[in-house]
Amino acid sequence: LPEQEAFDIEYWLLEEAKLQRMPKPKSLAGRIAVVTGGAGGIGSATAARLLSEGACVVLADIDETALASAADNLAGRHGKDVVRTVQMNVTDEAAVIDAYAEIAVEFGGIDIVVSNAGIASSAPVEETSLELWNRNLAILSTGYFLVAREAFKVLRQQAIGGSVIFIASKNGLAASPNASAYCTAKASEIHLARCLALEGADAGIRVNVVNPDAVLRGSKIWSGEWLDQRASTYKTDKEGLEEMYRQRSMLKRSVLPEDVAEATYFFASEASSKSTGNIINVDAGNVQAFTR
Ligand code: NAD
Repeated sequence: LPEQEAFDIEYWLLEEAKLQRMPKPKSLAGRIAVVTGGAGGIGSATAARLLSEGACVVLADIDETALASAADNLAGRHGKDVVRTVQMNVTDEAAVIDAYAEIAVEFGGIDIVVSNAGIASSAPVEETSLELWNRNLAILSTGYFLVAREAFKVLRQQAIGGSVIFIASKNGLAASPNASAYCTAKASEIHLARCLALEGADAGIRVNVVNPDAVLRGSKIWSGEWLDQRASTYKTDKEGLEEMYRQRSMLKRSVLPEDVAEATYFFASEASSKSTGNIINVDAGNVQAFTR
């Protein structure tokens, strides 16, 4: 090589080596994210992922005790200044409005909203009381609507775009036995997301969906009534259920809260800037597999 060219190559290799040593800028630095159901398994894992990319996170949840403990845990790892909590019942319109007002005062804005607060409760249709049906729709369908509606108000006013992510469920796409109330509510979340994607597009507000398959580890849902119902429907226990879900997926792997958090992070970040109204199924291939 001519002397100058050899010098240039050496120079750029050295520069490259220096860049490799430098810490990468965090992709969500300066962003404010709200995570509903933030005290739960998927919510806490999602908050941790967003925090690891430099976002400030507001955990919103109905359960004050769980909220304090989740926030302590995250603050211990990421710092007190970047973790906040707000008590919010997503079915209570006034509480949702107040929570956003509180967040606006504290942080001055919002960039990312992860609507995730939820329950799982169902029964065979003949045993589904109106109360059970309404509870599913109130928390899942209406709760997601209220959280998104208030987010839209803030995001439109800010006029800098934003990302809203719905944690729905594989059960919103595919039927699950003895779970019509839950499945119907989850299906409505998915369609609401599509409608809002269309409405928000002109303001750069993206709305996307993450559909987890069963996440047994870390989730509070899988320690109560839902566990009993699934165990009785499939005539097995918690370990048996986990194995069943694993075996009927293409990849033969269990879905963890961190897997759901990773897909959610993708929709929160600029890497998904051309995606709206879309779905990622975090299901190890279960939705598309005909293995029952
Ligand atoms: P989780 O029970 O661990 O967390 C849910 C959180 O939502 C809890 O902290 C709870 O206090 C909160 N919450 C419940 N009702 C609320 C209300 N009215 N207002 C505010 N907060 C409320 O459950 P998870 O597994 O982390 O579930 C999170 C979301 O993921 C839910 O929407 C659930 O339907 C969905 N999902 C879970 C699974 C799974 O197998 N775990 C699978 C698919 C979808």
